Parts: sequence; structure tokens; C-alpha cells
Amino acid sequence: MNIDLIAPVMDTGGGRGRQITPLGLGVLASLTPDEHNLNLYDENVTDYEYKDDVDLVGLSVMTARATRAYQIADEYRKRGVPVVFGGSHPTLVPDESIQHADSIVMGEAELTWPQLLEDVQNNKLKQVYKSPRWVEMDEVPIPRRDLISAKATFGATSIQATRGCPFDCNFCTVTKFFGGSYRYRSVDLVIEELEQEIARGKKSFFFVDDNIIANRRYSRQLFERMIPLNIKWGGQASITAAKDPEVLRLAAESGCMALFVGIESISKETLHNAHKDFNNPDNYEENFKKYHDNGITILAGMIFGFDEDDESTFERTVEFLVKHRIGLANFGILTPL
Ligand code: SF4
Repeated sequence: MNIDLIAPVMDTGGGRGRQITPLGLGVLASLTPDEHNLNLYDENVTDYEYKDDVDLVGLSVMTARATRAYQIADEYRKRGVPVVFGGSHPTLVPDESIQHADSIVMGEAELTWPQLLEDVQNNKLKQVYKSPRWVEMDEVPIPRRDLISAKATFGATSIQATRGCPFDCNFCTVTKFFGGSYRYRSVDLVIEELEQEIARGKKSFFFVDDNIIANRRYSRQLFERMIPLNIKWGGQASITAAKDPEVLRLAAESGCMALFVGIESISKETLHNAHKDFNNPDNYEENFKKYHDNGITILAGMIFGFDEDDESTFERTVEFLVKHRIGLANFGILTPL
């Protein structure tokens, strides 16, 4: 079969070149038998044009990409080409998603993808595929990086060590999607993958993990092993990493340049209502200092649109970021599912 896997462009104005690489599609590509001819497109870095000779289309759908995903899906289904959705949006909003796709994969796709391909070939595609269990991280194959552009992550090579997050902020899909499980690959496998990429000339990496410092014991082990590799890297963490000066020191020593940290709001009330009390505005200054003292730039994730926000929130948020010398910021719009 000719298979196109597509990460649609975001339709919330996030802009191209600033989204995380669709590493999950690269993993599905690795799980696809060689008999198939597979192409992977990331609309974040390149335009996608409809084709006449495609037998199956797979779309990775987050809510912010859903409008564009539906557009591509509707067009291909008009042409009689089967369309499959995977990702957080079809998992959390299956009833709406299935109106635009022939099939949806709910949850992680690694364990269902090979069967789904067989079902397409036998004209037995089911409407819904659900993973029978959580995937062991060491079962996840190395993604087909030859099909993925590194442009999306500022030229850095994307890699994954862990999945999930131990927290459950009520605006976030991570714990809903991964079911509260926090799983990690063995440190040996992560180091092996990094070494393979270093041997190919790669020197800068981006950990796509939702929270690379959620299990601080694991993170300390990983960072210690990364120190001799002499690389530069970035990733995502929660402010709670500041509780452990040793883990931040090891992160910096292993080459960490910047971490995306979900600050979300400068209002205690908002954070409380969002079940994110571990972000305490009273301690922000002290915690930011711990990152900065280690030379780690904070990319602050801020959200606008909480019920408690008003017109003054925008200006007060920017003043706060400037006052605390936050190096970079990302402003998101709260989007209900
Ligand atoms: S800490 Fe971050 S990744 Fe974890 S649940 Fe909260 S927002 Fe999501």
C-alpha cells in the first residue's frame, strides 16, 4: 500500500517551525512492514498536497490541529481513500472525530497499528482501535528519523525517554491520554540512541517528553550518563524540578540549555482551580533563580482564557515575565474539549 502519515498544521496561529516534531508518526513508520511504501509529512515545516495514488491516510490529531485534519480527511474520504485518526483529539473526542474518519485509534497506537494495516489490506478496517494495555517504553522502536524533518525543533534531533506525567492539571490532555501512568525507557537504551545519532553527526537534541524531570531519581541517572556525550539539549519540565538542586545541576552539566516550564498563570486562584497548586506564585522568583543559576533558560508556557482572567491579565503577565527575566515565552489559548 501507499501510506501517507500526516501531522496537520496547527490552526490556532501557533505558526510554523515552532511545534514539536511528530515523533509518534516516526515510530509508526518503524512499525510499518517494508512491503508498504510510506511517506511522512509534517505540515509544520512543509505544505502537503493531495495525491491520487494513496491507499491509506493516517493523521496525528491534537485539538489545535483538528480543523485542518478534518479538511484533509474529508477530501480523501470523498476520493474513497480510507482515513485513520490517532492522537489525543480522537482519544478524548471520539464521537466528533469519527464523523471525519473511517477509523480512530484511541490511546497509544504501537500495539494496534500492525493489526490495523492488515485489516485495511483485508477490507476489514474497524471503526475503533484501542490499545489492550499500556506500552512498555522499551518496546517502542527507534523512530524513522530519515522521514522526519528536524526543522520543527530548531534543527535539534527529537528523542523520547519518558511518557506521561504524575500530575493532573485539569486543562492538560497528557494525563487523560496516558492514564496517569509515568513510564520511562531504560537509561541504557536512551544513551544508545543518543550515541547512534551522535555518530551521525548530531549534537543537539530535544526531549519531547511531557515532563523529563518528573521522576527525579530517573532523571539524575539519565543526566549523569549524558554528561560524557558532550551534547546540547532542551526539553519540558515542571517547576517542581527546582526542589532538587542536584537534578538541575546535572541537567545543566549534561548540556541542558533550555526547558519549557508550564507556568500557566500568575494567579494563585487560577492555579488552584486548575489543580496546579504546585505552581505557587509566592515561590516563582526563588524557583526561577534555581534554573537561571544553572544557566538553564526558561521557556515559560502561559495560558490565557481561564475563567478568572480579565483584560488586565495580558499586561500583568508580560510585566511578570520581564521582571523575572524569563528568556522565552509561549502564549496559549485555553481550548475546551
Ligand atoms: S505538569 Fe504539565 S504535563 Fe503534567 S499534567 Fe500539568 S500541564 Fe500536563
